Amino acid sequence: MDWGKWGRTPFLPTGKLLENADTVASRSLTQTDLQATVEELIAVPETDRLMVQRNKTIAIALALVQDSEGHQHLVYAVSGNYTNPRIEAAAENLGLTRWTTTPKSGVPGPTGAPADAEQLLQETVNTNDEYVMLGVPAASRPYCGDCAAAIQHP
Ligand SMILES: [Zn+2]
Repeated sequence: MDWGKWGRTPFLPTGKLLENADTVASRSLTQTDLQATVEELIAVPETDRLMVQRNKTIAIALALVQDSEGHQHLVYAVSGNYTNPRIEAAAENLGLTRWTTTPKSGVPGPTGAPADAEQLLQETVNTNDEYVMLGVPAASRPYCGDCAAAIQHP
């Protein structure tokens, strides 16, 4: 895939979930479906939507939980592990499971953004052997360069 220069939205093929060495395309969801779910989730009451768009990032991914039944779940994270009751209610309506985790390095560096939503999802997968991410996370704003690198080279 063409991630372009860091800091720009990567071009994502929309017809299917993306695959890399660690992921397997699955179910009938596409990257377009994931992005549409993000848009639905942030279509919460306007005060929240504006706050989320200005200050937060929400990312959604399809994850495979390798239990005996091989269930797949739509999961989401909010930057800084933020939440509020309206976002939680909207997520529940959409069948999303919230993932929170300790950001990788704990402290964002000058170019690092480990508490960004995309990286919280990736870090959850990296620290749980039974989880596999399918496709790449869809986010409520373009990936920053740090997240692009973290998702491309998990
Ligand atoms: Zn980021």
